[in-house]
Amino acid sequence: MRTCLFLFQIFIIFNLGAKETSEAIKLDVPAHHTKDGFKNNYLPEERMSKSLGTVFKWRFTRNSQSLVDFESVEPDLSFLRNNRTEETLTWIGHSTFLWQYKGMNVVTDPHLTPRASPVSFAGPKRIVEPAISMDDLPAIDVVVISHNHYDHLDKKTVLGIVDSQKSNPPLFLVPLGMKEWFSDIGIKEKVVELDWWQSHRMGKWTFHAVPVQHWSRRGLTDTNEVLWAGWVVEAPGKRLFFAGDTGYSKDFKDIGERFAEMDLSLIPIGAYAPRWFMKDMHCNPEEAVQIHLDVRSQKSIGMHWGTFLNLTDEPLVEPPVKLREAVKNAKLEEGSFITLKHGETLRF
Ligand code: ZN
Ligand code: ZN
Repeated sequence: MRTCLFLFQIFIIFNLGAKETSEAIKLDVPAHHTKDGFKNNYLPEERMSKSLGTVFKWRFTRNSQSLVDFESVEPDLSFLRNNRTEETLTWIGHSTFLWQYKGMNVVTDPHLTPRASPVSFAGPKRIVEPAISMDDLPAIDVVVISHNHYDHLDKKTVLGIVDSQKSNPPLFLVPLGMKEWFSDIGIKEKVVELDWWQSHRMGKWTFHAVPVQHWSRRGLTDTNEVLWAGWVVEAPGKRLFFAGDTGYSKDFKDIGERFAEMDLSLIPIGAYAPRWFMKDMHCNPEEAVQIHLDVRSQKSIGMHWGTFLNLTDEPLVEPPVKLREAVKNAKLEEGSFITLKHGETLRF
């Protein structure tokens, strides 16, 4: 079982044995498109993959995380299910949020099952129940997906949402190349895939896919074949930024230059240890604060922590503690970058 778990860790989290990639030759092809897939804007290509030796080094030096009994909050489900007027943001767990604004229900990276893994018997296990179960989820209008890693894209959850909304399934907004995955599982309509800096309009709303520094992999041989992204949602009177999964890079200054400011940002603060292994692909709380500054966020919420066991090495309770320190060190206003309890709803 230990070997099995190890293999799944490699499978899920790390870009092992990535194929060589080369620069696109044609000038009209965006720089992040290569003939073998996609690459990051500001990360040298040799750092897009980890050698087997490096993975083993991490495996044999890593710390196991201790279980934590997080104090969670029971969301007001009847209110959330009926609410089509008030603005709310509920942390369902990890990178899954329900954002309700002007009658629209938007969900980010929905994951409502017990493991972040291709199989049900191994892989990072959920330690806090999703704050809203599949049955209790309000009807969703738009699902925003950042990338195809198992802690962000969960087949059962995606199918469950579509199944529970048969008469009016949500629109799935996904990074370039991911439409095929949806088609393969039978979702052939209402899936829009976008390249970085492309947008999708829905009435007065515009959804923009933006570059972040990460990678993709779902199977054994599909490294970086599909794109990863963050999302900027321009709704009437409000701009939301969902950073997805990312290391710190200049991409955030680029995003900050394109958009005046973000009213609300969802930024990852967990899965950063050990730094020598994780830094390129996962920001730590200090870097998350820099992202908050770069995109000129008025208010940010930390995500991607406290939900799955042994995804990475830092103690499960550490990210919010380090975030508070980083907020203080950056002399930010108290409350400008916070974490929520699992299930907690902010009402604006
Ligand atoms: Zn990821
Ligand atoms: Zn992740």
